[in-house]
Amino acid sequence: MNQNDLAASVLTGNRRALGKAITLIESSLPAHQEKAKTLLERCLAHFASTPHRTVRIGITGIPGVGKSTFIEAFGMYLLSLGKKIAVLAVDPSSPVAGGSILGDKTRMELLSREDNAFIRPSPTSGALGGVAHKTRETMLLCESAGYDVVLVETVGVGQSEYEVASMVDMFLVLMMPNAGDELQGIKKGIMELADALIVNKADGDSESLATRTQAQYKSALHLLSHQEFWNPPVLLCSALKNCGIDDVWDMIEDYVTASKQNRVFDGKRQQQNQDWMKRLLHDLLEQKLYTDPSIKEHYADMLNKVRQGEVTPFTASKSLLDRL
Ligand code: GDP
Repeated sequence: MNQNDLAASVLTGNRRALGKAITLIESSLPAHQEKAKTLLERCLAHFASTPHRTVRIGITGIPGVGKSTFIEAFGMYLLSLGKKIAVLAVDPSSPVAGGSILGDKTRMELLSREDNAFIRPSPTSGALGGVAHKTRETMLLCESAGYDVVLVETVGVGQSEYEVASMVDMFLVLMMPNAGDELQGIKKGIMELADALIVNKADGDSESLATRTQAQYKSALHLLSHQEFWNPPVLLCSALKNCGIDDVWDMIEDYVTASKQNRVFDGKRQQQNQDWMKRLLHDLLEQKLYTDPSIKEHYADMLNKVRQGEVTPFTASKSLLDRL
């Protein structure tokens, strides 16, 4: 199948075609990258002329907090509302360690059997930036394939939260019931990224603890400065017992409505696209510096001369820039 046929299939919402298209995008072979570019451009051209309104949601939380259980319950709920949901993962943990967060086939078992759900494990190669870069493109493909909600999951332990927060409309942080005074190793920075906190496992013996945790996070969040139009709420839910899942979706809809009314929604996407372009440009320039035979040597030479103090860093940079 050529890229045009593949693009056409993706646009009809064909899941197999979508899977194939993502594989093409994730490939680092230059020939595949060229094809992937054409494919993406075709999908985007169509998408731009008939914009389908998706919501991009990022979700994070430490391992064991219940992300996959939550995504399964949340996804099934969205399906019951007639929506299509795509779940993507950004996993900075090394594929060598077999740490792919969606690698385990038993995760989201119900959801993965549904026609209107698409689940894609984390790309298995590349640096974080590379993975996130593919995730952005994958997200665009899912949108052009007609998915209403694209959920991007990340493990709440590293840098990936920042990456994911910079590519979604709304960022959710899942928490455990824990009334201890330390905030579960979740850094303050992550709290600042959160558009909402969800205390999961609010069931059984943990219910009252969950309520206390909720109160604690409410006051902690209160101290952080946020956007004017939105105060991040703290919700309770039990993914296991399927309680409070509808409240989470209602809250997301409220957020989307409010951010659209305040022109934040489109503004944020525009800003994200711009930032993405700047970053790509930066990456491409850097790549050229390291790989282009005519520049590589000059680069090494300049590095050496700067070390020896024979050339100033400014002159060296300028000279490299001229060659680029
Ligand atoms: P993840 O690592 O964040 O994806 O977490 P999982 O979804 O795999 O859940 C980790 C464990 O917590 C599993 O044993 C789940 O059954 C359990 N769990 C998830 N959600 C809930 C919940 O709402 N209540 C209770 N009691 N257990 C839950």
